[in-house]
Amino acid sequence: MVKTDYKNIWVYVEQKGGEIESVSLELCSEGRKLADSCGERLVAVVIGAQTDTACSSVEETGVDEIIYVKGDEYANYTTDPYVIAMTKLCEKYKPSAVLIGATSNGRDLAPRLAARLRTGSTADATEIIFNPETEDIDWTKPSFGGNLMATIVCNKTRPQIGTVRPATFKRAFPGKKSDLILTREDISVPSEEIRTRVLEFIKDEGDDGSKIEEADVVICVGAGLKSMDQISPFQELADLLGGMIGVTRPLVDKGFYTVKRQVGQSGKIIGPKLYIGFGISGAIQHTAGITSSEVIVAVNNNPNAKIFGCAHYAVVGDMFEVASALVEELKARRNGKS
Ligand SMILES: Cc1cc2nc3c(=O)[nH]c(=O)nc-3n(C[C@H](O)[C@H](O)[C@H](O)COP(=O)(O)OP(=O)(O)OC[C@H]3O[C@@H](n4cnc5c(N)ncnc54)[C@H](O)[C@@H]3O)c2cc1C
Repeated sequence: MVKTDYKNIWVYVEQKGGEIESVSLELCSEGRKLADSCGERLVAVVIGAQTDTACSSVEETGVDEIIYVKGDEYANYTTDPYVIAMTKLCEKYKPSAVLIGATSNGRDLAPRLAARLRTGSTADATEIIFNPETEDIDWTKPSFGGNLMATIVCNKTRPQIGTVRPATFKRAFPGKKSDLILTREDISVPSEEIRTRVLEFIKDEGDDGSKIEEADVVICVGAGLKSMDQISPFQELADLLGGMIGVTRPLVDKGFYTVKRQVGQSGKIIGPKLYIGFGISGAIQHTAGITSSEVIVAVNNNPNAKIFGCAHYAVVGDMFEVASALVEELKARRNGKS
């Protein structure tokens, strides 16, 4: 394998019915920086039964090229057709790197694609930097329960493949490039090569489809909450601020919320404009998921709580009293009394 035969940074754009996973847009934005730093082109790859809407949205992220594959076999993500299509594309175009969102589907696709191409895959990177000395990408990811950051390098094979957690990077829409190239590739996968079939989608009970990783405001509640009877001031605060409730792992373990609301290393990485953490100690496995937040406020009755170390504003006090006071203050402001 000759490394220099491989060129360009690819982003696999995950979409369904034109709705793009937010992480794919984040990766186009970060991929732009990566491509510029290594002097290569940024290429978005869109696969689906419908691709027009997704291609239009991706254009705005400033990619140099979009390669799209259209066909009924791609209507829903299943492993076989997507891996076959991506493998064929990579074999034909030889990208130097493929960035994939660490969604359930992305985590399924990346290692299988890497295995087919006999190359390496890094899971859950939180930093991707081109190293000009080695001309490889340094993929940094939390390891050993989040207690250390490991840098992984795929220095012998190409393409360098990796998944990146949603909300690790910010989205940017610099606009469509005037010389954008749109390329259609016809790849049809015979039905006998597709081993699984989607019969139906069943929504989680109580799932309204909103995603905590896309919320602008997250009111995060920790083990200071002893029962769901105590949740109302926090829910009310979230509602008043147009935000969502997030939780630490102990609350998921107790069955108060599903893992979709868990923030942290084994939950969701979030990057809201405002994060307020109530009754959260600040274990690394939790704080690993909040560091992209623009403003971090922590409320804890222990003045030595670790979470204060990464907070912009630290409030030492009882979480229930502070949440109720904030609710009253916001209501008063809305009614013009303050
Ligand atoms: C491999 C691995 C992965 C993990 N992944 C995650 C993850 O993704 N997300 C996650 O959150 N955790 C994760 N954990 C668990 C993590 O290590 C911590 O155990 C967890 O984050 C602690 O949650 P907590 O801060 O809510 O609880 P605690 O550590 O019990 O802290 C509760 C805090 O509430 C404060 N408090 C109590 N009552 C009040 C009150 N009335 N007012 C104000 N403050 C009060 C206390 O002072 C304390 O600081 C993981 C662990 C492992 C080993």
